[in-house]
Amino acid sequence: MKENPDDEFRICPNCGYKKGFHLCFKKTENSRFRIGLICPSCGQSYNIDWITSDIPELDVKWEDNYG
Ligand SMILES: [Zn+2]
Repeated sequence: MKENPDDEFRICPNCGYKKGFHLCFKKTENSRFRIGLICPSCGQSYNIDWITSDIPELDVKWEDNYG
């Protein structure tokens, strides 16, 4: 199946950065978490209405740093 480039959200419409986005997690009113995108270049955030019920609370555990 040929991939349609128009179906890909990768380039920041605000500044034109082409290498994708950072993620953020924001609690919604019904105690779910909405996953948002943040442009690493200009900081513009985008809501893609991606909501997860799999995260009951933010319990962040540090893992290995591969940097
Ligand atoms: Zn940007």
